[in-house]
Order: sequence, then C-alpha cells, then structure tokens
Amino acid sequence: MNIMVTNDDGIHAHGIRALAEALQQIGTVTVIAPDRERSAVGHSLTLHSPLRVFELHKGWYAIDGTPTDCVNMAIHSLLPVKPDLVVSGINHGPNLGDDVTYSGTVAAAMEANLMGIPAIAVSLATFNKSDNFADAGQIALRVARQVAVNGLPDDTFLNVNIPDCRLSEMHSPLITRQGKRSFVGTIINKTDPRGRKYFWIGSEEPNFNDDPGTDFHAINRKHVSITPLHLDLTNHASLPILAGWSF
Ligand code: MN
Repeated sequence: MNIMVTNDDGIHAHGIRALAEALQQIGTVTVIAPDRERSAVGHSLTLHSPLRVFELHKGWYAIDGTPTDCVNMAIHSLLPVKPDLVVSGINHGPNLGDDVTYSGTVAAAMEANLMGIPAIAVSLATFNKSDNFADAGQIALRVARQVAVNGLPDDTFLNVNIPDCRLSEMHSPLITRQGKRSFVGTIINKTDPRGRKYFWIGSEEPNFNDDPGTDFHAINRKHVSITPLHLDLTNHASLPILAGWSF
C-alpha cells in the first residue's frame, strides 16, 4: 500500500514521525507536510504565491504551504502514483466537535477525500507535552488496517481522536458523532512596547456539551473516538422550512 502522511503541526513535529513509523508496518510511507506549524489554517489553499518543495531526506518532503496544499501537490504532482491512503497527524491537540472546521489536520484528510482517496485525520487529545505519540501511532495503525481491509463508505473520511494515555489505559474505540463546543471566547487585549494596542485570540480548556454518543463524551472517558465525516454541510432538516419562505 502507498500511504501519504501529512499534518498541520509541521514536518518537524513529534506526531508526524510517530505516525510515519507506525504506518511503515503496512505500506510505503511518503511524508509531505508543511515546513512549519500551520495549525488552524482550516482548508485553505495557496493561490497567490508559488510553492516550493524541499526534500529533507528520502521520502520526506516539506512544502512552504498549507496541509491542503501538501495533499493537492502530492496527488497532482509529487507522487508517481495516487496514494491508496492519506493519513494526517498525529495532531498535538484534540480536533473535536465544531473545532474540526478550523483544523488543518482534518482539512488535509478532507482534501484527500475530495480527490477520492481514503483518508484519516488523527489527533492526540492534549495540549500538554506528551510522550504518548508512539502509543497513538499504534491506534492510527489499527484504524488504517481496518480502512485497508473494509474500505470506507462513500463520501466518508475519518476523524480519529486519541486520549492522552498509554495504550493499556485506553478504552476501546467508539464510533461517535461530532459534538458541540460551548464557546467561551477570550480575546487578550494589551498594549505593545510601542504603545499600540494588540489583540490575541485566546485559548482556554475547551468547554463542551458532554452528550452521550459524541466525540467529546468518548474522549472524556478515555475511549478512542472515531467520527465518520463528510463534506456536505447542508442542514437537511432546514430545507423544507426554508422552502416555505417567500422571496
Ligand atoms: Mn495542529
């Protein structure tokens, strides 16, 4: 199997190394990832400047672009054949609930899915320093094996979140739905050394609705969370309601 690995934490992150090492057990891995951290860039594509590729060592390429650029370039230019699987991660930080829309990690998997390639986004659910990336890599490997054996349903890619603990302490994977975050927006508002105001979007411990069946609920109880995602953002329940509006 030819596997492309990417991320949004940059090619030098711990998580991508752990992921590439784990996936080597089931295929030939090519790493094509941003040359620096690009977390929270979402599904952005670089259109107004050129992109450059740097081969760091055999099978490892850094691009001065976004995770979506990496998948796009890999499939349309860099890789001699289309990959059989794209795996993005292992992100340092959760990608749960509504946060998936900000995530560069998830967007890379989304881009692969758009191009008809089976894809998995993998995140380790902690913002703290962690030495559980290798264990998380073993979970990524198990999920990748299942995708290789079963294939994915049409129009589906997987968002996998892994609790920050040893493999032996994790509970079995649960298939979950995307949960809801309850937003506590914090904007840092200060003055810089030149007397000008600046603002910084803060981040606090994520608050979430702990509803059974959601990704949050699973992670909170040390289960691996696997959420099947698709790209159709249409709110189907709203269609008949809006159809009754008069314009
Ligand atoms: Mn990230």
